[in-house]
Amino acid sequence: MMSEHQAKSIVIVGGGTAGWMAANLMAKSWQHLGFNIRLIESPDIGIIGVGEGSTPQLKGFMDFLGIKESDWMGQCNATYKNGIEFVNWSTKPGFSRYFHPFPAQTDDYSAPGFFHNSYIRRKGISVEGHPDHFFLASYLAKHKLAPIPEFHFPFETNYGYHFDSALLGKFLAGKAEEFGVTHTRGTVAEVKLHVNGDIQSVITQAGETIAGDIFIDCTGFASLLLQQQLKVPFKSFGNNLFNDAAVVLPTEQTQQLGSQTISTALKHGWAWEIPLTNRNGNGYVYSSAYTSGDSAETELRAKLGLLDADVEARHLKMKVGRVEQHWHKNCVAVGLSQGFIEPLEATALHLVQETVQGFIDSYQKGNFSGQYQGEFNASVNARFEAVRDYIVGHYRINSRTDSQYWLDNANNNQLSASLVAILQCWMRGDNLSDELDRQKIDHYYPSISWHCLLAGYGLYPDSAQLKPGNEYANKYNIEQIADFISRCGLNFKPHRQRLAELSTG
Ligand SMILES: Cc1cc2nc3c(=O)[nH]c(=O)nc-3n(C[C@H](O)[C@H](O)[C@H](O)COP(=O)(O)OP(=O)(O)OC[C@H]3O[C@@H](n4cnc5c(N)ncnc54)[C@H](O)[C@@H]3O)c2cc1C
Repeated sequence: MMSEHQAKSIVIVGGGTAGWMAANLMAKSWQHLGFNIRLIESPDIGIIGVGEGSTPQLKGFMDFLGIKESDWMGQCNATYKNGIEFVNWSTKPGFSRYFHPFPAQTDDYSAPGFFHNSYIRRKGISVEGHPDHFFLASYLAKHKLAPIPEFHFPFETNYGYHFDSALLGKFLAGKAEEFGVTHTRGTVAEVKLHVNGDIQSVITQAGETIAGDIFIDCTGFASLLLQQQLKVPFKSFGNNLFNDAAVVLPTEQTQQLGSQTISTALKHGWAWEIPLTNRNGNGYVYSSAYTSGDSAETELRAKLGLLDADVEARHLKMKVGRVEQHWHKNCVAVGLSQGFIEPLEATALHLVQETVQGFIDSYQKGNFSGQYQGEFNASVNARFEAVRDYIVGHYRINSRTDSQYWLDNANNNQLSASLVAILQCWMRGDNLSDELDRQKIDHYYPSISWHCLLAGYGLYPDSAQLKPGNEYANKYNIEQIADFISRCGLNFKPHRQRLAELSTG
């Protein structure tokens, strides 16, 4: 690798969301060093064109680039997201739906009651244990409110976004060019290596040779550089995550705009519903080992009332798992080329951002050498495994019996030791926060997320067995918490109204 003081030449291959996010983050981080950043995008190979939900991390990305919501949201038909509502994943009475909230500062007041109650209820005491009663984000989503408080409300609320991924890509392309990124249209047809195995250059179909010091593979599932050229092995998560296909259909938007993603369990997978300002994005993520694309499309059409509608569906394949090394030689894979954990918690762009940020930090820390490559790879792998386990949890604890797909998921015994320990801890009635702490994994998914998942499915003793609580069990007054949350809710506006104000400044 080159010495610290020489300006570097970074070549990004791929102009999907991953490529443009990487281009912006690198250009902004290294603008003072005079790095030359070039993105090559094939005019013939399309982007995946789905991926319309984010975690709160995307706000950090926009803030870092100095992009205001009023700059980008309108251009990308974007909406606010308070979290995800899960519907029909559990058959336990009273638990057919629950909400996975993004955190708010007000949780400091309401969440202790939830932790306490979900602990006590596992001991067989009758207290309110459904997560939806305890979080401001659940309230905001239920009432279709935007998570932006009035200026005098002093508590922070975290939120994500929904957006049109093609429009976001276009927007980010414009921003990257403002940051000095060179944009080349061309399809890479050949890759040339140095004798040490590093990539020397890529050659386009038009015959242009583009050399670089570092190559970022953002070529989607093709993984042209890292997997195809450098032969880095791919580790499938297929034994744990059965879904490998999706069918996508848009529907019309209604006037009262939702501020949550809805994830509804269907016969062989689940369907997302994502509200954008101009339409709803819908898709059915399913396992092709259990149902065909045609049957999945019919099931989704029936759900959406589109059986006879003349709306074309898009069918997609998904490769679920991760590469063994995300940074190998002088190449880093980012986005679908490095791996994909199905979209249940909308984590892919979060992983893109973490990977690029982690690479920037490691590369810089090693004086622009590969000194910290091993550490970087271990850290990205740990994140992939942690996200996988949280997603697998949703399937493993399901109680549906309507198809072999759900029965097989409930009987899946390929779980990681970490996930087994988490589930056993909950079932034993032990303190789950302590277990997450012991495993040092609560910075991937915090204790609230795990509690919402397990309590949200109603993993408690059956109601008939519950005994009345004493004063200690009833330490938290549920009416008081509800009153607190609804009073907090007065500081938030209807979603569409808030978006309209954003566009008028
Ligand atoms: C069903 C589904 C739902 C999803 N939902 C979510 C979600 O809600 N939230 C979320 O965060 N993520 C989601 N994702 C993931 C998300 O779509 C992707 O992570 C994101 O779009 C980034 O994709 P990408 O840029 O890696 O790949 P792509 O969009 O596939 O882009 C690949 C790029 O590489 C270029 N390319 C390929 N080969 C060559 C070549 N030879 N030469 C030059 N260029 C080349 C293509 O032209 C294209 O520009 C979902 C994915 C799927 C499959």
